[in-house]
Amino acid sequence: MRDRDKAIAFKQQQESMVSCQLRGRDITDERVLAVMAELPRELFLDEPLRSQAYTDGPLPIGQGQTISQPYIQALMTQHLHLEGTEKVLEIGTGSGYQTAILARLSREVFTVERIAELSMSARRILDSLGLDNVHYIVADGSEGMEEAAPFEAILVTAACPEVPEPLVEQLGENGRLVAPVGPRDTQDLVLVTREGEQIRRKSICPCRFVPLLGKHAFQ
Ligand code: SAH
Repeated sequence: MRDRDKAIAFKQQQESMVSCQLRGRDITDERVLAVMAELPRELFLDEPLRSQAYTDGPLPIGQGQTISQPYIQALMTQHLHLEGTEKVLEIGTGSGYQTAILARLSREVFTVERIAELSMSARRILDSLGLDNVHYIVADGSEGMEEAAPFEAILVTAACPEVPEPLVEQLGENGRLVAPVGPRDTQDLVLVTREGEQIRRKSICPCRFVPLLGKHAFQ
């Protein structure tokens, strides 16, 4: 296929992803829908997998890791209620696609990844898209990022046995944290909110993520 035809095909697949997989389910946040209708998801995948960029499931991104299903990424983002003014912490940069969504919807993003190659490749793609409000950190994200805390929103994109305690401590007043919590084979996507000293926890839906490996995570 010629480049122009490929671009048209991607655009059609992207529109159908937004209308069927996102709007067609329970994604109603217009800002989330707009950014996912605009960001070229294929750029975050290796060439042989690009034709599957808008399919309804997770895909490999190298290093034994995966990019999540578009619907789950939209759902997690929707629960953060971003308005554009927030400082956000993301744990698990991976391909950088989720990071790009957060960067478009908030003021500033700190994204932590334990595999340096993934962090570097994500940075290259986001730079090429002109997203310059992101800080890339290679470290164990289960410890959070105390230097930059508190955060109005925290998103964990790898499975943790429990919500890592440092992340709850780094959540600001009225902050929202979303994380997949549970054993390695299946988890519950949970929303944690803070109002003063009051920490509330609500279950969103069952899910399955690659494990968060670190001090306050799986060993
Ligand atoms: N949000 C990503 C999906 C990432 S998969 C995307 O859109 O592509 C989960 C990522 O978490 C993997 O890249 C994995 O290397 C990373 N990870 C696992 N344990 C981690 C830890 N303790 N700190 C930071 N990143 C971690």
